[in-house]
Amino acid sequence: MKKSTIWHPMTQHKIFPEMIPIDRAEGAYLYTQDGDKILDGISSWWVNTHGHCHPKIVEAVQAQAAKLEQVIFAGFTHAPAEELAERLIDRATHCMGGDLRHVFFSDSGSTAIEVAVKMAVGYHAQIGAPKHKIVALEGGYHGDTIGTMSAGARGVFNETYAPLLFDVSYLKFPHKNHEQETLDQFEALLKGGDIAALVLEPLVQGAAGMQIYSGRVLRGLYKLCKRYGALMIADEVMTGFGRTGSMFACAQGGFAPDLLCLSKGLTGGFLPMGATLCTADIYDAFYHDERAKQFFHSTSFTGNALACAAALASLDIWRDEPVFDRLQMIEASHKAAAKAFSARDDVTDVRTIGTILALDVRDETDGYLSDLGVRLYNEFLESGILLRPIGNCVYILPPYCITKDELERIYEQTHRSLDGLKNERAQCAA
Ligand code: PMP
Repeated sequence: MKKSTIWHPMTQHKIFPEMIPIDRAEGAYLYTQDGDKILDGISSWWVNTHGHCHPKIVEAVQAQAAKLEQVIFAGFTHAPAEELAERLIDRATHCMGGDLRHVFFSDSGSTAIEVAVKMAVGYHAQIGAPKHKIVALEGGYHGDTIGTMSAGARGVFNETYAPLLFDVSYLKFPHKNHEQETLDQFEALLKGGDIAALVLEPLVQGAAGMQIYSGRVLRGLYKLCKRYGALMIADEVMTGFGRTGSMFACAQGGFAPDLLCLSKGLTGGFLPMGATLCTADIYDAFYHDERAKQFFHSTSFTGNALACAAALASLDIWRDEPVFDRLQMIEASHKAAAKAFSARDDVTDVRTIGTILALDVRDETDGYLSDLGVRLYNEFLESGILLRPIGNCVYILPPYCITKDELERIYEQTHRSLDGLKNERAQCAA
């Protein structure tokens, strides 16, 4: 086959030259050009919610494409964007209360966060009390642009670019029974002043290996933001749209953030889109007689009409189909499976939240570049399942259309692969 000219993301091409050509997808399955069927256990990088090529989204995008595909979004607007903004605000308010009143569209998770960080720093400047520091939660991931890398954890992903990144203060991850330490650390930072915003992935840090923390400490962090006049930026790029069992993770902390960042599941995983929802206060700070006080940010595809149509169709599915029943089935199934995984002595930790199940495989070479993940990835693929471990963390994050039997198949294969690994290790040790 002719060598591809494509440079793929997160890929060392010299070691992993082969890409699997996917021809089509439907529901929980990807179909390769060779006719193989792969069960998508990670929703194609956490984006797909209702299943691939959901007919209602297909139809909505087709209809929109025949009418208006894209229009400059400064000075112009269109009905799908207007309706989507209204419905996102309605969903967010219904789920979390609060005062989220405006929506800024962009085109990815990273841009949704960049916009939020700029809005937060801009807000403090506009109200005449400039603050510049960003606080983030240790281990977070917010994207791969310079700004979002700055807010995220530092490591092998971005150490080359360290001189380009801005300084961020990191809060200790609020491990169980150590939550107060994180809250105290945040309060001390806030007392020092100049904190513009706290940015975090609420309830679960995805790229960190599905690290889960409590809604109570999340709420505590929010309350501290309020007490000291810092803004909370909730990165719900992964957690949004049902991943943690509720529509938005912040609902489990019982509050609405000042800035809510959405992407991935926003369009049902169908088209790239980012949205940053903000409070009336933040919007009003930029609402001014002077043009120079406007929010200076744009991306060419802001408010793309096809993405808006996909997002509207996805919200229709949430309204018209028993999506929450599906989430509950996945959650119950994961919980039962977690018990069996916890009993294994080669698994060091098992955790579940909503539709996510994660387990850490005992491994001496902990870390993202652990070869264990690659080995398991290949084994899963050979058995027709797409799981993509993060280092030694195997996680399942399926599209909501997955059936109980399909989940069982994934759990069984995981046990089989772990058994194989265990036997091999035993033989090596003997
Ligand atoms: N925030 C979180 C929590 C994410 O998981 C991701 C992507 N995995 C991003 C931001 C970045 O989103 P994107 O890749 O669409 O830029």
